[in-house]
Amino acid sequence: MALFVHKYGGTSMGSTERIRNVAKRVAKWARAGHQMVVVPSAMSGETNRLLALAKELTPSHATTAYFRELDMLAATGEQASSALLAIALQAEGMPAVSYTGWQVPVRTDSSYTKARIESIDDKRVRADLDAGKVVIITGFQGIDEGGNITTLGRGGSDTSAVAVAAAMKANECLIYTDVDGVYTTDPRVVPQARRLKTVSFEEMLEMASLGSKVLQIRSVEFAGKYKVPLRVLSSFTPWDIDINEEAKSGTLITFEEDEQMEQAVVSGIAFNRDETKISVLGVPDKPGIAYQILGPVADANIEVDVIIQNISKDGRTDFSFTVNHNDHARTLELLREKVVPALGAQEVVGDTAISKVSIVGIGMRSHVGVAAKMFRVLSEEGINIQMISTSEIKTSVVIEDKYLELAVRALHKAFDLDQPTA
Ligand code: ADP
Ligand code: ASP
Ligand code: MG
Repeated sequence: MALFVHKYGGTSMGSTERIRNVAKRVAKWARAGHQMVVVPSAMSGETNRLLALAKELTPSHATTAYFRELDMLAATGEQASSALLAIALQAEGMPAVSYTGWQVPVRTDSSYTKARIESIDDKRVRADLDAGKVVIITGFQGIDEGGNITTLGRGGSDTSAVAVAAAMKANECLIYTDVDGVYTTDPRVVPQARRLKTVSFEEMLEMASLGSKVLQIRSVEFAGKYKVPLRVLSSFTPWDIDINEEAKSGTLITFEEDEQMEQAVVSGIAFNRDETKISVLGVPDKPGIAYQILGPVADANIEVDVIIQNISKDGRTDFSFTVNHNDHARTLELLREKVVPALGAQEVVGDTAISKVSIVGIGMRSHVGVAAKMFRVLSEEGINIQMISTSEIKTSVVIEDKYLELAVRALHKAFDLDQPTA
């Protein structure tokens, strides 16, 4: 008997009608003889609605006590959608039970709003499966050592699903969403984007970490660590399509390079609108500067992405890096209060009007001149590059955000991603 984990995103759970459809689809899989664990997201818009209520009460309040309550609050979205799905399954004549993260339990660390899953106890879930029930586990959340509810960061239900699949050694984890797979870039921005039948794990990891929100980065990390077979597919196909056809649809994340069907130099373009740039100006150019600036930032649990340090003039230099926009104000405050006075730097400035665009492809390993071509395409569009970062299979640039869509479209075309592969 096979075990499958299905994950349904917010749009797929967006109304009672859609929840009914999800229930019918899941019941179809269960009736085909499979054990089914389902991980739903909150109904679309619900997490935003809840977090906006908190903001109405206090615009910004960066204390642990506050973040704890945000998690208490946000976790209710998935509790509601999970119960609704269990009710819909029961209405279909399919025995079903739903559990919150703490009931399972899904154990996490205590980093509220961005907690990491540490372990999942599957005893209770197994017992229900063995009793013939579909088990629904809330996405996005867990419980820490102290018994506090935690959430896993926006888009975290993907990670819940893959972690459950890993813990239970599921045959496959299917991520049902509002697009029918992973595309060469976000199809909302480039309508000519093409669906990839397969994408290598490494490319998916880069794309997710560079901003392709179709999968949360940590879900891809989990899939890689535990070799969880992972597929992204549409929840908007008719629920009663042939199950074998459905099981082959969408995009499969592959772990073997020779399984790569589509060997383009660049496989995809990712972008991220959520980063902002922080520059510390007039820093004395001497050993230990990067550590003195970024040490306190890391201590405050703020993730830093692209970093550049300019050459020094008259013994001083400028040091810039990007952070998530949620951390922008906090980072500026921290640097102004602690770092600038200690370092004798001139000032700290922030720029929120930036975006990051990246090209990704395993083929970049064996081809030269790919980054140069990217820079040429951007220069032909008159787009100024503010920062660059590269790794073996990606090149990222930071540009002014008003040029983001232009840059993505131009690059998509220049790297022939509009063209069907042979
Ligand atoms: P869900 O609510 O199902 O988790 P998300 O909104 O988190 O859905 O992710 C799906 C969305 O990801 C799509 O609607 C699409 O706009 C966006 N997206 C970004 N990059 C890509 C990509 N490369 N391929 C497919 N979808 C992408
Ligand atoms: N509901 C959460 C969010 O909106 C988690 C998820 O949908 O994956 O971010
Ligand atoms: Mg998502």
